[in-house]
Amino acid sequence: MARTPAFRVVPAADGVFLIRGPAVNWALIADGDALTLIDGGYPAYADAVEASIRAVGRRPADVAAVLVTHGHVDHIGSLARFAARHGAPVYAGAAEVPHVRRAFLQQVTPARILRNAWRPRVPPWVAHLVRAGALRDCRVEAVRPLPPEGPLDVPGRPVPVPTPGHTSGHLCYHLPGRGVLVTGDALVTGHPLSRLAGPQPLPSMFDHDRSAALASMAALRSCAADTLLPGHGPLWRGTPEDAVTRARDRAELVW
Ligand SMILES: [Zn+2]
Repeated sequence: MARTPAFRVVPAADGVFLIRGPAVNWALIADGDALTLIDGGYPAYADAVEASIRAVGRRPADVAAVLVTHGHVDHIGSLARFAARHGAPVYAGAAEVPHVRRAFLQQVTPARILRNAWRPRVPPWVAHLVRAGALRDCRVEAVRPLPPEGPLDVPGRPVPVPTPGHTSGHLCYHLPGRGVLVTGDALVTGHPLSRLAGPQPLPSMFDHDRSAALASMAALRSCAADTLLPGHGPLWRGTPEDAVTRARDRAELVW
């Protein structure tokens, strides 16, 4: 993947942008001159992450904090380089910090993916993720633990919402003042491996603990928001309450 991967900037709310990469999203939150970056795509998306910041009229040096929803390679892949280049601190939930440092790995295994290789959407997705650097070491040693309660003292003052299951320390981030909920992989609206559109859980092979992941969605219901920014799939306009109901109703349809 020599060229910068394509991305699309989707304005979500005042100063909030969903950035749609080829196979995974990240988000930018502006607050005055400063920015918070949430997640950072695969390792090979590093140039795209920087270009997306310029595309919203800022510089990578304006990023005052990087927040991680969870430690999967498609969400943290570019962040070690970003932090080293631009000096931004990287934060994750306390339970996710050792995962981001790769003290352990709660990620779908190559063997599990291979067992699903007969599904027509799987081979092109695997080809993409290999090109995107999914097999590289993506640990972020410098990651720091977030305090257990928000709002966080970073641009946009997001409130972490613990949503264990997809990984043990997965966090969503609520921006109450802007009516936005960043859902990461706790609830998505599409995926290269899914034929469904709209709120849904990920295919179950991606969840470390599927039943915990489905139960965790309940934590999103009480977040006051009208816009959801998922880790995969398009921006969704509607309440978390409605999105969670739809996603749970479709859990049986997702393999
Ligand atoms: Zn994930």
